[in-house]
Amino acid sequence: MQTSFGTGQTNRENTDLAFTDPLTGLGNHRRFFDKVERLIADRSDDPAPFAVGILDLDGFKPINDLFGHKAGDDILIQVAMRLRASMDSHSTVCRIGADEFAFLYPMVFSEEAATERARMLIEILSAPYDVGERTARLSASTGCSLFYSGEETTDILLNKAETALYHAKRSGRGKVVVYTREMEEAAKRVTRIEQALRRAVSAGEVEPHFQPIVDLGTRRTIGFEALARWSDPDLGPVSPAVFIPIAEERGIIGPLSQLVLRKATEAARGWPGDLFLSFNLSPSQLVDQNTGLHILSILDRTGFDPRRLEIEITETGLMNDPISAEKIVEDLRRVGIRVSLDDFGTGQSSLGRLREFNFDKLKIDRAFVSSILEDRPSEHIIRAILAMCEGLGMDVVAEGIEQEAQADRLVQFGCAGGQGYLFGKPANADATLGYLRDSFRGALRAKAI
Ligand code: C2E
Ligand code: MG
Ligand code: MG
Repeated sequence: MQTSFGTGQTNRENTDLAFTDPLTGLGNHRRFFDKVERLIADRSDDPAPFAVGILDLDGFKPINDLFGHKAGDDILIQVAMRLRASMDSHSTVCRIGADEFAFLYPMVFSEEAATERARMLIEILSAPYDVGERTARLSASTGCSLFYSGEETTDILLNKAETALYHAKRSGRGKVVVYTREMEEAAKRVTRIEQALRRAVSAGEVEPHFQPIVDLGTRRTIGFEALARWSDPDLGPVSPAVFIPIAEERGIIGPLSQLVLRKATEAARGWPGDLFLSFNLSPSQLVDQNTGLHILSILDRTGFDPRRLEIEITETGLMNDPISAEKIVEDLRRVGIRVSLDDFGTGQSSLGRLREFNFDKLKIDRAFVSSILEDRPSEHIIRAILAMCEGLGMDVVAEGIEQEAQADRLVQFGCAGGQGYLFGKPANADATLGYLRDSFRGALRAKAI
C-alpha cells in the first residue's frame, strides 16, 4: 500500500513539474493550454464567452543586458508574484515564454472588461523593481481575444491573442489590443506584400523616383531626394509609406535600400556635378554596422562622388541605439557624405540630439509647412527652428510646399531650401533627366548627355 501511495505521489509530482515554470513557480505553457482546453469543453453547452490574453514585457532584453541575467531572473520572479497576486479565484496566469505571460479570465464576458483587466495588469507591472541597489522600470503590452463559439480551438484563440499582441507592440509600449477580424485581414495583407516585395527586390524591380529640392530665393534646383517606388503586377502600385515599414520589420530593408541606392546613383551620375542626391535610411539600418560599408561599396562601384550624397535619417532612427547610429554617421561623414535630419518636429524630438550629433541639414516636416498660413503656432515653431539652425550652422529645407503663398512666407522667415509639389513631384530617372535638360541646358551639354 505504502509503495503504491508513494508512486502515486511521485507521478503527481512529475506531472506538476511538467506543468510548472521552474523559475517563477507559475504554470507553464502546457498548463495554460490545458486550462483553456478544459474551459472550452466546459463551455460547450454554455454560451457565456471568456477572455484570454498574452502579455509581453516591453524592452526586457536591454534590462537583461544592462543588469545581468541574475537580475533579469529576479525581475521575472517579481513580475510573476505581482501577476499572481492580482488574479481573482477564477483566473489563472502562466508563464509561456521568456518574458511572455498568459492569463485566462473565465468570468470576463466582454472586450471592454478584458481591456480593463489587462490595463490593470500593465499598471501593476509599471511600479519600479528592486535590482540590488538599483531600481528598474518595465512596461508591458497585451493582446486579448474572446471565446465566443464552440467552433474555436485553444490554438485559434491563442493565435488571435498573439495577433492582437503583435498589433499592440506595433502601436507602441504599454498598449492593450483586443483581437478583431480586420486584424487578421491586415496580417494576411502584410504577408502578401512581404512575399511580393521579396520577389521584386531580387528581381531588381524597385525603382528610385526623384523629387527636386530648390533654393527658395532663386527657385533653382540644387538637388533631388530619391524616393523608392514599387508596383507589383497583382497588387498594383504600393506606397512606400506601406512597404518601407514592412521591409524594415521583415528584414528586407537592407537589400531594398542597396538596390535603390545603386539605381539612384547610376541615374544621378549623369546630372550636372553641382546637384546633390539625398537618400533615406531607415531606423533599423542605423543599428546595423554594415550599413556604412554597403553604402561606400555601392558608391565605389557606381563611381558616384560621396561629396554629392546626403543621407536622411529620422529622430526615431537615432533613438533605438544612439551609439551605433553615431558611429555609422561618423563613418559616412568621414568620406564627405552629408547627413540630414528628416521629418524634424514630429518624432520624439530631443533637442539634446542636435548637440550630440553633427547634422549638416535639417528638414522641417510637412505638418508644419502645410499649416503655416493658418496656424500661428506652426509659424512660431518654424521661426524657432530656423533660428536654431542658423545658430548651429545647419542648412534647412522645408518639406511639402504646395502653394506659392507658403513658399513666400518661408522666404520671408529666412528659410533657404524647399521641397514640395509646388516645385515638382517625384518623377522617374528619364523624366528627371528631361526636366534637367530643360533647366540646365548648358551644363548637360557640357557633360555630353
Ligand atoms: P520622406 O523621406 O519624408 O519623403 C517625403 C515624402 O513626402 C514623400 O512621400 C514625398 O512624395 C512626399 N511629398 C513631397 N512633397 C510633397 C507635397 O508637397 N505634398 C505632399 N502631400 N507630399 C509631399 P513618399 O514618396 O510616399 O515616401 C514616404 C516615406 O517613405 C518617405 O518620407 C521616407 O521616409 C520613406 N521612403 C521613401 N523611399 C525610401 C527609401 O528608399 N528608403 C527608405 N528607408 N525610406 C524611404
Ligand atoms: Mg526623406
Ligand atoms: Mg521627410
